[in-house]
Amino acid sequence: MERLVILGGGESGTGAALLGKKLGYEVFLSDKGKLSDKYKEVLEREGIAYEEGRHSENKIFAASLVVKSPGIPDKQPVIAALREKGIEVISEIEFAGRHAGTKMYCITGSNGKTTTTLLLHHILKGAGIDVGLAGNVGNSLAAQVAENRHRAYVVELSSFQLDGMFRFRCDTAILTNITPDHLDRYDYKFENYANAKFRILNNMRPEDLFIYGYDCDVVRERVAEGKIVPKAAGFTYSEDSRLNAYMEGNVVVATLGERTFRINKQDITIQGRHNVYNAMAAILAALKAGVSDEDLRKGLTTFPQVEHRLETVAVVNGVTYINDSKATNVDSAWYALDSMRAPVVWIAGGTDKGNDYSALFDLVRKKVKLLICMGVDNKKLIDAFSPMCEVVDTHSLDETMAVAARRAEKGDVVLLSPCCASFDLFKNYENRGELFKEKVKELLK
Ligand code: ADP
Repeated sequence: MERLVILGGGESGTGAALLGKKLGYEVFLSDKGKLSDKYKEVLEREGIAYEEGRHSENKIFAASLVVKSPGIPDKQPVIAALREKGIEVISEIEFAGRHAGTKMYCITGSNGKTTTTLLLHHILKGAGIDVGLAGNVGNSLAAQVAENRHRAYVVELSSFQLDGMFRFRCDTAILTNITPDHLDRYDYKFENYANAKFRILNNMRPEDLFIYGYDCDVVRERVAEGKIVPKAAGFTYSEDSRLNAYMEGNVVVATLGERTFRINKQDITIQGRHNVYNAMAAILAALKAGVSDEDLRKGLTTFPQVEHRLETVAVVNGVTYINDSKATNVDSAWYALDSMRAPVVWIAGGTDKGNDYSALFDLVRKKVKLLICMGVDNKKLIDAFSPMCEVVDTHSLDETMAVAARRAEKGDVVLLSPCCASFDLFKNYENRGELFKEKVKELLK
């Protein structure tokens, strides 16, 4: 019996274990940290062997195939040792893709992945297509292939998942943009990170479709090199009608083959320039899937607000509080500030991922009246922004909210768009966003 070893027992690892068992592998799951009760229960119910708190080399090196969680860096000694022994190490998506045999609509990019993934899924599902939602967005693809097979999947792919993908093929791929992020995992080389994103094109055929953000220099320049095998469809916020999706005044125009679809950007439920990009990408993918104009319009006009992404929480004493906790890098904070139409009290800070803040200077000068830094160590933010706006140094959410409530005036926006990861003060970005929302709701009382 072939031995499948899974490293990391979160959503993707547990899903891979389920699929491995179904395929007849002898499965062993190993997690260096603690497993959550939810996944432990699944493993026990299914009789899948596992360990936590360690990686036992004798059990791991006996593998014929290893599925690694995207959270484990390639540099970890156990991964390097496996590779040295010639044992194949792949990602959960790669593993699931080898056994899925269904259409794959895949989305990657530095920002906009989750929004575009959810929007495309919402449109396809609303059009009556039997489609699953998988990947980074939260549900394991492998678990669905094992237990609840769909005719197609919309899959959000991070660069870490792409790093572990080799034979996987997307039918339709979307690359929203590439801006610096996660450089700590790529030897601080932007090019390595960009290369990982472009792996989404691996194995695609001429009849497949590659949808890309034309306004992103890195993406456009690589596409212009002309080495792309599938049909390439670019989208732009400009009025350049040579692209497959572009603007005509306020109208989004998208063309694929014989079909052209038009919608006023104000009719789309999610707002802001970045969301026009996300909508364009989803529209082109939906056109490729054969969704009718009527279903496309219905999908775009009924898509619900996505939590933690420019989510309006409440208006308190005339001040609008917005939760954009998912803005964990400079580019996403740029789009948040860009879409603000009122003076901004900006809450930022957290774990810095090697950020260069200079791209934000113009917007901050124009829009931000007060920056409240919320982190364990705010020195880098304070140094960067104090020449252009007032900056307050705080080290907890309570302190931050007290300053925001005291200083924001009627007509202002208080925007949590941290530009940084959350791990210094919070469990993760969801936890940061949820606590922020709770505090805002307390202000309402
Ligand atoms: P991802 O899954 O790639 O992190 P999300 O859709 O979760 O992307 O959005 C993350 C953050 O980036 C949010 O703050 C959101 O407002 C912002 N954002 C969404 N789409 C884009 C885009 N196309 N370009 C830049 N920023 C974006």
